[in-house]
Amino acid sequence: MKQVQDYFGCLVFDDKVMKSRLSSDVYKSLRKTIDNDTELDLSVANSVAQAMKDWAVENGATHYTHWFQPMTGTTAEKHDSFISPDADGRVIMEFKGKELVKGEPDASSFPSGGLRATAEARGYTAWDPTSYAFIKDKCLCIPTAFCSYGGEALDKKTPLLRSMQALSKQAIRILKLFGHTDIKNVKTTVGPEQEYFLIDKKYYDKRPDLIYTGRTLFGAMSPKGQELDDHYFGIIKPRVQAFMNELNEELWKLGILAKTEHNEVAPAQHELAPIFSTTNVAADHNQITMELMQKIAKKHDLVCLLHEKPFKGVNGSGKHNNWSMSTNTGLNLLEPGATPWDNAQFLLFLVSVIKAVDEYQDLLRISCASASNDFRLGANEAPPAIISIFLGSELQNVLDHIETGKALKSNGSSFLKIGADVLPPLPKDSTDRNRTSPFAFTGNKFEFRALGSSDSISCCNIMLNTAVAQVLKEFADTLEKSTDFDKDLHEIIKDTIIKHKRIIFNGNGYDEAWVSEAKKRGLLNLASTPEALPYYIDPKNIKLFKDNNIYSDAEIHARYEIGQEHYCKVVNIEAKTAIDMTLKGYLPTISKYTYSLTKNIEMKKNLAIDTTYEEAELNVLSNGLRDAFVEVTSLKGALTHIPSKIEEASLYYRNKVLPKMESLRNIIDSLEEHVDKEVWPYPTYGDLLFGVR
Ligand code: ADP
Ligand code: MG
Repeated sequence: MKQVQDYFGCLVFDDKVMKSRLSSDVYKSLRKTIDNDTELDLSVANSVAQAMKDWAVENGATHYTHWFQPMTGTTAEKHDSFISPDADGRVIMEFKGKELVKGEPDASSFPSGGLRATAEARGYTAWDPTSYAFIKDKCLCIPTAFCSYGGEALDKKTPLLRSMQALSKQAIRILKLFGHTDIKNVKTTVGPEQEYFLIDKKYYDKRPDLIYTGRTLFGAMSPKGQELDDHYFGIIKPRVQAFMNELNEELWKLGILAKTEHNEVAPAQHELAPIFSTTNVAADHNQITMELMQKIAKKHDLVCLLHEKPFKGVNGSGKHNNWSMSTNTGLNLLEPGATPWDNAQFLLFLVSVIKAVDEYQDLLRISCASASNDFRLGANEAPPAIISIFLGSELQNVLDHIETGKALKSNGSSFLKIGADVLPPLPKDSTDRNRTSPFAFTGNKFEFRALGSSDSISCCNIMLNTAVAQVLKEFADTLEKSTDFDKDLHEIIKDTIIKHKRIIFNGNGYDEAWVSEAKKRGLLNLASTPEALPYYIDPKNIKLFKDNNIYSDAEIHARYEIGQEHYCKVVNIEAKTAIDMTLKGYLPTISKYTYSLTKNIEMKKNLAIDTTYEEAELNVLSNGLRDAFVEVTSLKGALTHIPSKIEEASLYYRNKVLPKMESLRNIIDSLEEHVDKEVWPYPTYGDLLFGVR
């Protein structure tokens, strides 16, 4: 049997392949580009392209693509074959340096939020050499950034790379002050834990709501849900295990560090976590993971649902973005150190994150805002829509003592002075883990838990990197001028704790009381996407992005508009699907069923047989039929009055359309238990949640 270490990364043009296939000059030059973010010379690009093509063809590839991530949050690819006509009428396989570094896909059908008039629909893709090329379905995929003719970012990778650069620049300034003059770059690292559902394809195929919207718009709860907690970490069913095995194998071939797999809380829910990597690579890998999950599931007659809330009444799916900062010398900047000096540095980076999250809580909220994730956040299964930070009691204790200057018990009698005392050891696996916090410190990294399962991880990392870069810049500006470093360092840390401690909450985030407490503290509670999105274009945030060269004015507005439009489109599709299923499925079925009940009653009455059951059900169903018809008519009407302004439209969908869909659903769901299962038009929650056996 082939062992993992033998095939791991076999479909990746990685460092080992580069070393073996490139001349040492070309390799060195490419390595320099990768490590130091410098530009690639065209002659080097030609050699790399040639080697890459030879390698890809030997490994079965016939095509190549500039693989990119448009603002839709998914991935895009246009395949070109390597073939080039030969003088004697045959073909050779060819791939040039300029084709590797730059592509020109017609970009007119990707959302641009007004950035690119369709007349100049040309877009450019440019290779991101820090993410390795790979082979997928006989196609050499070259990870690329995607820009408009005028150079504006039309994708999620470009701003992510910009934000990583911004953070690196500022972190290096800080590290220099602590004597680390050898550090060339600081990269943010991410390990995204991915949740998903697996259901049987034969049931999926019969649910228009799942097909069109990814979630069930109707369905009464099955007699059993998740109340026994017997699924979490439970034994994995053989069919699911077969899927997981194949998924792991394919991910490993692509060099993706799939590590942990287990059953999640809800029935039919599972999780996959990789080992962390550099953020842009983690973002690429997470996109590939989501794609492969869906493809491989189909091979097992399963369907993988990545929607945040496919089922009402059981937990939805999220994605945990574990985040830290790491130097090229291998130092994790959020790892508490062993010496007082290291700890001072750790504390400075720690408070920089605290300040960043407090000042830009709106941006973090936006980064996880979508029509689908609105069903999770704040719904007592996922973190609330209020952004706050969990530190745990040990670290909280340390911060309290810095703030008050009082003695730290666990650290002897002296009070903690930055740069002089050793922090008490902070246990990494402390028992006071808090699952209800959206942003939790977990020993040597932060875990952002509000992200939705279908989200690209790029957006939240763009926000986080940029906000932290901004704060580090402010700190560096002060400290570089300092004449008494220790004193000023202590002041900055203490001052930041005092000013931003309102964002720290170590209690239960699901508790009602937290909502009012957060309000008292002045924290934002942006319950839905239409409420959150306008903060994108808040002057404070525009300034942040512009100052750090992440987005231009136009680029921010584009993202704001695309977010709003996307929200409206999603809810509109859902509403139309709900209407369709009601008028073509539920109502005709129920009507026919009442007909059969009526016939039964007639017959039985002729024979003088009791008709209590039939009459009671007929009554319930006839009333329900009428109520559902009234509601579906009202929903249809609501769709004819959509305001034309996008910001009003999204609020209208949220406040008028979604509640009508919910009322309609409630009526239909309540009728489900009154109708013969044999005639009910769509598979039930029981089929969907417990159908994989
Ligand atoms: P936990 O049990 O706290 O969730 P794990 O060790 O299982 O911790 O890690 C969860 C995820 O966090 C994994 O994907 C892991 O690779 C990732 N992770 C660990 N260290 C870091 C780090 N320094 N930066 C980013 N992610 C990290
Ligand atoms: Mg975790």
